[in-house]
Amino acid sequence: MSEASPDSAKSKSKRSPKAPAKAGAPEGATPAAPAKSAPQKAMERMGLTRDIDLALHLPLRYEDETRLTPLDAAHDGDTIQCEGEVVESRIEIRGRRQLLVRLRDDHGALLQLRFLHFFPAHQKTLAVGARVRVRGALRVGFFGREMMHPTFRKVDGETPLATSLTPVYPTSAQLPQVYLRKAVASALKRAPLDEVLPPALVPKGLPSLRETLQFLHHPPPSAGLSTLEDHTHPAWQRLKFEELLAQQLSQQRAQRERAHLRAPVLRGTKGGLHEQLLGALPFALTGAQQRVTEEIAADLALPQPMHRLLQGDVGSGKTVVAAIAASVAMDAGWQCALMAPTEILAEQHFRKLISWLEPLGIQVAWITGSVKGKARQKMLDAAASGEAKLVVGTHAVIEDKVKFSRLGLAIIDEQHRFGVAQRLALRKKLADSLADEFPGAVPMEPHLLMMSATPIPRTLAMTYFADLAVSTIDELPPGRSPIVTRVFADGRRDDVIEKIASAVQDGRQAYWVCPLIEESEALDLKNATETHEELSAALPGCLVGLLHGRMPPAEKAAVMSLFSSGHVSVLVATTVIEVGVDVPNASLMVIEHAERFGLSQLHQLRGRVGRGSVASVCVLLYTGPLSDTGKSRLRAMAETTDGFEIARRDLDIRGPGEFMGARQSGAQLLRFADLEEDAPLLSAARALAPRLLDQYPQAAERQVERWLGHKTEYLKA
Ligand code: ADP
Ligand code: MG
Repeated sequence: MSEASPDSAKSKSKRSPKAPAKAGAPEGATPAAPAKSAPQKAMERMGLTRDIDLALHLPLRYEDETRLTPLDAAHDGDTIQCEGEVVESRIEIRGRRQLLVRLRDDHGALLQLRFLHFFPAHQKTLAVGARVRVRGALRVGFFGREMMHPTFRKVDGETPLATSLTPVYPTSAQLPQVYLRKAVASALKRAPLDEVLPPALVPKGLPSLRETLQFLHHPPPSAGLSTLEDHTHPAWQRLKFEELLAQQLSQQRAQRERAHLRAPVLRGTKGGLHEQLLGALPFALTGAQQRVTEEIAADLALPQPMHRLLQGDVGSGKTVVAAIAASVAMDAGWQCALMAPTEILAEQHFRKLISWLEPLGIQVAWITGSVKGKARQKMLDAAASGEAKLVVGTHAVIEDKVKFSRLGLAIIDEQHRFGVAQRLALRKKLADSLADEFPGAVPMEPHLLMMSATPIPRTLAMTYFADLAVSTIDELPPGRSPIVTRVFADGRRDDVIEKIASAVQDGRQAYWVCPLIEESEALDLKNATETHEELSAALPGCLVGLLHGRMPPAEKAAVMSLFSSGHVSVLVATTVIEVGVDVPNASLMVIEHAERFGLSQLHQLRGRVGRGSVASVCVLLYTGPLSDTGKSRLRAMAETTDGFEIARRDLDIRGPGEFMGARQSGAQLLRFADLEEDAPLLSAARALAPRLLDQYPQAAERQVERWLGHKTEYLKA
């Protein structure tokens, strides 16, 4: 079959100098030459390496090439396929150079084809006298019928029509549709598509996997395009079920694997460190803090490693819960590591923890990228000897050089901010950390506590995080006054500055958050510096501080401590202050270009205020015109301060794919199923997974391998 379209011809001619042998022969996925062609490399980049990957690469939509439409019967705007003889072919310059071809169909009707991009090969195929089949959108105007850039190919009277709808696959610029189509068709023949599931366990009314894929790649002309394209067709249902099942199996399997691991039993003693800490705190725990503390303590006392997420809205008081968990571990004679995603936050934790724990005789070490030389060595020694019971820092703590004597508990703050690679490294580090000291058939691992202010919506928790216990702090410490959020157009900037000036006169403190400039850190910086100058000039007699990511850590720390102590009244900052920073006296926040931030990021930023007893105000300045999602984000911010509600709306606005953010990089989790729409399939898959694992372990194994292959590691991160 030879088919040409301007696009494929273009990419072929580009490719030809490098791979002349293959340029004209997209014969499928198994060319003989060892060197990889550009389309093959493109397929690899898209993760299409195994036959099964190609078989599971499904069409976005379909084109109907199963029939020919007589030109007389077609209307303006129709996408049709027709056939005829070329009666004229010429190049004309009308503004620009173009190829104009006139075609006459069997009923004598004429059609003009117009190409603004074309190659000599096009002209050759479309020579006068040739019979061609073309497909495209028809325009009927004053001068007759026309198609712009139709796909076309040479035929003779015998050339058969397609017997099934033609699939259109998601692809990339380097991978021509025609090439991919053939690769998929031949992979579909080779791929092992035998039924993995015992037939009795497949939900009733769904076709077999082989039928499903055959149908979805090459549906018969009679198939209802609408049910195919909106994914409600039984074949789609089967496929989504398969996918959800694989995902549930991999999660539940990880959960079972963990149950077989060993961990140190960490139990605080009566009158021990954690009780002393509770006694020394300047406040009593909230009911929610108490509850989650007990949940964590119960996990720590088990001989299996904890794998728990502590979620609680910004300002709900997660740090103290972490400190108590650490105290339990240390009281039981083990070390604890606490990691935060930024140096500023790590440093703040460090100060807070020293102030709580050093009076109780605990030595705390401090390791970040910027602790160097002798100081670093001292910290490393203290961790390795076990002298430092608690090690606080950034991800530098999980670097190879850092050794612990007996690490019993690792805590990760703002865990969603750590990348997939970092989380995998951490898991590995944890798995290895006790291996030497406690060898044995079943390895021993430290407990793991993750903390996040971005709550995971329930549907996600059930699916992506089935292997994760969740504790939730659903109550703020008493005495907080709610934050009032106001949304203003940027034109009101001067008014806002005036308000800040008078608030500062009254002894209040403010954050001024500079816009996010995604493309360029340098622009970010320029912006922050200019705003700093502007506010310094507008607020005479008051100290305005500046904080951004490029400052040396010592300088950042100095500015932060001047702000904490109240010497600096206004802090101009980039998003470095986004997570965790805790200065209770700061009660005003201005976020410039709020429309550029994501919803959860705005919520995190806003969470820097409202931490004291003074009523706090958050001003969102925006520059219009706003997009629809921009509008709904700002509206959500103005309407609620509840982190769970914000997360729910965020999920609505963005969808789960994006919500997962970093977790997804390297591993797209669900390609076909939709957690909300396919809830019934999800419950069926959830219920079936344990049965398969128990009764058909090999089927379970194959199901996961077929769908997730090498991605399973990522799913654990
Ligand atoms: P987050 O959950 O955002 O990490 P933090 O741990 O930073 O919150 O706590 C926010 C502030 O609330 C801190 O100043 C902390 O000392 C204070 N805090 C925590 N728990 C309580 C409590 N039970 N009563 C009063 N203040 C509390
Ligand atoms: Mg925090």
